Amino acid sequence: MTELTGIGASNGISIGKAFVLQNPELDIVEKAINDVSVEISRFEQAIQQANHDLEKIQAHVKEELGEDHAKIFGAHLLVLQDPELLNTVKGKIESEQINAEKALNDAANQFISIFESMDNDYMKERAADIRDVSKRVLSYLLGEPLVTTSDITEEVILIAHDLLPSDTAQLNRKYVKGIVTDIGGRTSHSAIMSRSMGIPAVVGTTTATSEITKDTTVIIDGENGTVITDPNDEQLEFYERQLKEEQERAQELQTLIHEPSVSSDGKQVELAANIGSPKDLETVIENGAEGVGLFRTEFLYMDRDRLPSEDEQFESYKTVLETLNGQPVVIRTLDIGGDKDLPYLDLPNELNPFLGFRAIRLCLERDDIFRVQLRALLRASAYGNLKIMFPMVATLEEYRDAKHILDEERDKLLKEGHTVSDDIEVGIMVEIPSTAVLADQFAKEVDFFSIGTNDLIQYTIAADRMNENVSHLYQPYHPGVLRLIKRVIDAAHAEGKWAGMCGEMAGDEVAIPILLGLGLDEFSMSASTILRARQQIHQLNYQTTSEVSDVILNKQTNQEVEQYVRQHFLLD
Ligand code: PEP
Ligand code: MG
Repeated sequence: MTELTGIGASNGISIGKAFVLQNPELDIVEKAINDVSVEISRFEQAIQQANHDLEKIQAHVKEELGEDHAKIFGAHLLVLQDPELLNTVKGKIESEQINAEKALNDAANQFISIFESMDNDYMKERAADIRDVSKRVLSYLLGEPLVTTSDITEEVILIAHDLLPSDTAQLNRKYVKGIVTDIGGRTSHSAIMSRSMGIPAVVGTTTATSEITKDTTVIIDGENGTVITDPNDEQLEFYERQLKEEQERAQELQTLIHEPSVSSDGKQVELAANIGSPKDLETVIENGAEGVGLFRTEFLYMDRDRLPSEDEQFESYKTVLETLNGQPVVIRTLDIGGDKDLPYLDLPNELNPFLGFRAIRLCLERDDIFRVQLRALLRASAYGNLKIMFPMVATLEEYRDAKHILDEERDKLLKEGHTVSDDIEVGIMVEIPSTAVLADQFAKEVDFFSIGTNDLIQYTIAADRMNENVSHLYQPYHPGVLRLIKRVIDAAHAEGKWAGMCGEMAGDEVAIPILLGLGLDEFSMSASTILRARQQIHQLNYQTTSEVSDVILNKQTNQEVEQYVRQHFLLD
């Protein structure tokens, strides 16, 4: 038995066999050959195997995420059929009398460096495609096929260094019962995706992929970040009992699906869901969300090889608005940069990407991209209750400029004869401390605030949200953070506006009583935590929570706040 500790990223217990997603470095050695035709047929066979893989992945991604996301695999399949590449490899085998691995590696590198040296984004993407595809073929030639999440066809606990968006896109929720990663924090991509899929997860264990081997029995506790491998009978029995109790509690929560989110003394709030694509809507409905409080639209732009068109975006926004059937839907404009890259945009490499050219900064500079998204949003507004939100706003000028572009696009669309709702609220995310400090000024101009604590915490305490070495400083209950949150809520209310929160803190059981007490109007979280939050709010008394909030704002440390709230509300 061994025990690893990481960061609890998605609640729940899970027990299963390990599936380790780890690809060895491919070692290419030149060998002389004596039969050219044998070598060429080895190469052709590897091409066929890679082709089969890619077709499988493409079909799966198409079904799970739609045609658009599957296009990148279509481009990879084209590389496999490219006569120029295939003939160059065969030519090298013949003329240089070398093994297929070496011939392919040399030919691929030759093509990659030609494409990369061209000053053309399209050609640079082709270089990336050739790199990916040749690695897949080489892995077959070397007898070490690549492991991908789409290879999982039975119930497992997935162990990975980190999960890329393409890994999560390919994984089948039916089979992946738990996730453990080496790196990441509570707000890293893999953590957020696991929560939105309702899969228990522990991230940032540092050594999981090197310590856990395939098929070992693993227990994970996604709440406190524990990972146990090869458990003894006693541990197995203990966690099996916990799992059973958890399943019974989930059953009990089902009765709250259609209940309002109201405290024991009648204070009503809205519990909304965070989503990354229309595909997440099923869990939103299953968990009784009262709206969507954050649609992270950047996922529509990721894992593909070009920008999504106005019509493609319009269809996604329309689907979400129609499915929510008149309930509020807050759609955030493109928040790219930071930890989210778009290779096809060729963004500059920066020393501090989280403080760099991202989100609204990028959209105001590249208004060609921004305007397409705004048009799609405005057109979709006719199909539901749309609210538009700008991310990472640091100054009033940024908000005014973004709003001005939005108004210009609205006028154009109306002139073109499109229907646009005249009732769209426009708000901002408050995730930069200067904006929280100036919330009273912003509140005069915006329709609402949504507090993005994932970033607000990292910027206020200057502790990178992705860096496990400083995760002890990433403190949601730091009184400095709580005072900023209070300031934002009060500023909104003073102007008759509403304040929500869409950072992970909104679904946290210690934060919920504090936020209710501070008067937060809307709590937006992973759909899988909504029913538990609703149950908690039913049991809380608003009057008491406001008294507690007054007290904790004068505490000195994160730990004191947490202890006080846990004791007061009997949270274990
Ligand atoms: C946040 O910063 O709190 C937020 C919700 O945005 P993201 O996690 O996408 O940065
Ligand atoms: Mg953010």
